[in-house]
Amino acid sequence: NKTISVSQIKDAAQEAYAQFKDNTGGKNADYIPYLANIDKNLFGISICLLDGRIITLGDSSYRFGIESVSKVHTAILALRQYGAEKVLKMIGADATGLPFNSIMAILLENDHPSTPLVNAGAITACSMVQPVGDSDKKWEAIVSNITDLCGSAPQLIDELYKSETATNFNNRSIAWLLKNYNRIYDDPDMSLDLYTRQCSLGITAEQLSIAAATVANDGVNPVTKKPVFDASLSPKITSLVATVGFYERTGDWLYTSGIPAKTGVGGGVMGIMPGHFGISAFAPPLDSSGNSVKAQLAIKYIMNKLGISIFGST
Ligand code: GLN
Repeated sequence: NKTISVSQIKDAAQEAYAQFKDNTGGKNADYIPYLANIDKNLFGISICLLDGRIITLGDSSYRFGIESVSKVHTAILALRQYGAEKVLKMIGADATGLPFNSIMAILLENDHPSTPLVNAGAITACSMVQPVGDSDKKWEAIVSNITDLCGSAPQLIDELYKSETATNFNNRSIAWLLKNYNRIYDDPDMSLDLYTRQCSLGITAEQLSIAAATVANDGVNPVTKKPVFDASLSPKITSLVATVGFYERTGDWLYTSGIPAKTGVGGGVMGIMPGHFGISAFAPPLDSSGNSVKAQLAIKYIMNKLGISIFGST
């Protein structure tokens, strides 16, 4: 492991913030009305080191919609409840090379949703959350897992939840297609609702950096010091994120940034750098695949400046 000082990380983060703050590339998600109206100038960066120190810049304590970043959290919950082997069998761990909302993700792999990190597999993961059959208790488990990972509780953004529920027709078809192929393990409408609700949780870049650092720190939350999941699950989680965290752009992302990371259409990105830190950046405008333009630029800049990558250091 290349040794990197805190001041090197701080400098890199400050430079990235200053350099990309005024970037105007991308466009807010517009298929979910609430997201279309978020201030497009918001921009925050947070890095949580494995000793619990946190470096923050800009709007790092602004609560935004966690959206698809929550797929990582609930994949972790499924792994905690079922173990690595069963998650592989019941969902899968493959790349899809497809957009997040693809119905093809179910069909391509022999009626298998491929990975918990695209919509199809994420809805399946929600269906698996125990206790199966009890929506309220399942929701409690989902929120309490996110709270453990982030070191503090997320908060439902009611308006976002309503906005998504009123417009999630594509996800409804995915849920019922999963039912058709016996790849959903609880009521499809309930599983879809849990998925929609978890996507509507408000979270901060700081909280996401702590969750990422918990994965990078073998399952122990570096801020609260609470063991959240077994260390053996860390490489499984990081491999899922590395494989499909940016959907059809994942290869390009990994090649250029060197860090496994997961995006959400709320503008958040959460990156896991094992042995070093967890990082999150947030800015609403997205590229055509639904990934935050500024968050990508900032994280890439920081990684390249530090000269580290999951594949080796320079
Ligand atoms: N709730 C959104 C959806 O399912 C999440 C998508 C995303 O963040 N990529 O469409």
